[in-house]
Amino acid sequence: MHPADKHFTRKDLPRGIVATCLHCKHSDVVMKVPKGSAGRGWGMREGNKQRGRMIQHIKNAHPEVLA
Ligand SMILES: [Zn+2]
Repeated sequence: MHPADKHFTRKDLPRGIVATCLHCKHSDVVMKVPKGSAGRGWGMREGNKQRGRMIQHIKNAHPEVLA
C-alpha cells in the first residue's frame, strides 16, 4: 500500500471505476468494456494504471499531505 492510497477514494460502478481525490475532487474515470470483448484481467490492469495516475496526482498536486 502506498501512502497516497488513503488520499483518494474509488467507486466501482457498473459502467466504470471512478477515483476521486479527497483534497480537490480531481477524478479519474476508467470505463469498463462490454463483457466478453476484452476477456478477463481488465480490472486489475486498468485499475492499477488508474491507481498509478492518482498516486502521481497526489504527489504532484498535494505534496504536503505526504510529507
Ligand atoms: Zn487532488
